[in-house]
Amino acid sequence: LPPWSDPQSEPYVRIEHVTKKFGEFPAVNDVSLKIYKKELFCLLGGSGSGKTTLLRMLAGFEEPTSGRIFIDGVDMTGVPPYERPVNMMFQSYALFPHMSVEQNVAFGLKQDRIPKAQITERVADMLNLVKLSQFARRKPHQLSGGQRQRVALARSLVKRPKLLLLDEPLGALDKKLREHTQFELVNLQEKLGVTFVVVTHDQEEAMTLSTRIGVMNQGEIVQVGSPKDIYEYPNSKFVAEFVGNVNMFQGRLIEDEPDHVRIDSPEIGATIYVDHGVSSAPDAVVWAAIRPEKMLIGIEKPVQQDNVARGVVKEIAYLGDMSVYLVQLDSGKIVRVTQPNVYRHADDLVTWDQTVYLSWHASSAVVLGK
Ligand code: ATP
Repeated sequence: LPPWSDPQSEPYVRIEHVTKKFGEFPAVNDVSLKIYKKELFCLLGGSGSGKTTLLRMLAGFEEPTSGRIFIDGVDMTGVPPYERPVNMMFQSYALFPHMSVEQNVAFGLKQDRIPKAQITERVADMLNLVKLSQFARRKPHQLSGGQRQRVALARSLVKRPKLLLLDEPLGALDKKLREHTQFELVNLQEKLGVTFVVVTHDQEEAMTLSTRIGVMNQGEIVQVGSPKDIYEYPNSKFVAEFVGNVNMFQGRLIEDEPDHVRIDSPEIGATIYVDHGVSSAPDAVVWAAIRPEKMLIGIEKPVQQDNVARGVVKEIAYLGDMSVYLVQLDSGKIVRVTQPNVYRHADDLVTWDQTVYLSWHASSAVVLGK
């Protein structure tokens, strides 16, 4: 049982109704959140959604306007950054350019007046862990972006914080290196058992790294869940559209039973049958959200009556591992469908301007009221 599903489990970080206003503007608005030991929790949101402000309040660089933050059961109100069991790694890494890698990593320990022999040992261990031992004598400008990122990480971790806060930690890296480093970061986090809170605007990154994700919009946390929860069961149009691609069909609820929903959707030109319920009044306007990979594309008319739509292929993009199809339905609506290229010639059957049928399973759609 993961700790967040266990009501007995004590959170390591507890954020209670925290609001931060700059003037009249609420950058963070009534956020409540529990983060558990050894989690890698991502705050995911667009620019200006309040992620960094929330992180800075955990670090103690900003005080909440109202609400309280507890770390390890202790109320952090008025506790300065250096007295919190927390370390923060900044976007820019902020390495000292004139110091070697070794000296950069040792810096915080020296300030804490840790005995020299201990410093040497801890720095060596840490450099070994982030695979930088052979670069110990180099200066930051002699390193690649990925290596600099690892120095910054080593420097944040060498002080053995219980909680490490990372603001866009992989922002400066190119795509390939980013992906590689994402997995390294997860490995490192698992090895050290430190609790990580990571700010990112990159949904793929959040999916790769996280035990759980908190999606932020306009200063509020709008959904919290595992990457799978967030992707498969978004709780709003905002989350469905922010995380991954999605097709959104507007319609009216014509049947709302506890175990299924039927939606009349002129956009599809048929009814959508979903095998789980929502709690909206009949006749309410709702949306059915269907991910592109959950729709099958075929040239034969399927026998099923529900959950089928006819259209014409307008665009095909061959991406190697999969192909993307843009299909215009009879209603004019453009639908995005992706199919894995399991066989080399699988996509040869479906070509431009061809009439195709899209079909999907009743369990694949999510019904959203807002
Ligand atoms: P980004 O991904 O662009 O860094 P973010 O989600 O981290 O965005 P924040 O930096 O937390 O967003 O900012 C949230 C909002 O609060 C923004 O509208 C920003 O302009 C505002 N804000 C942040 N810091 C201050 C400040 N010191 N004074 C006034 N407004 C601020």
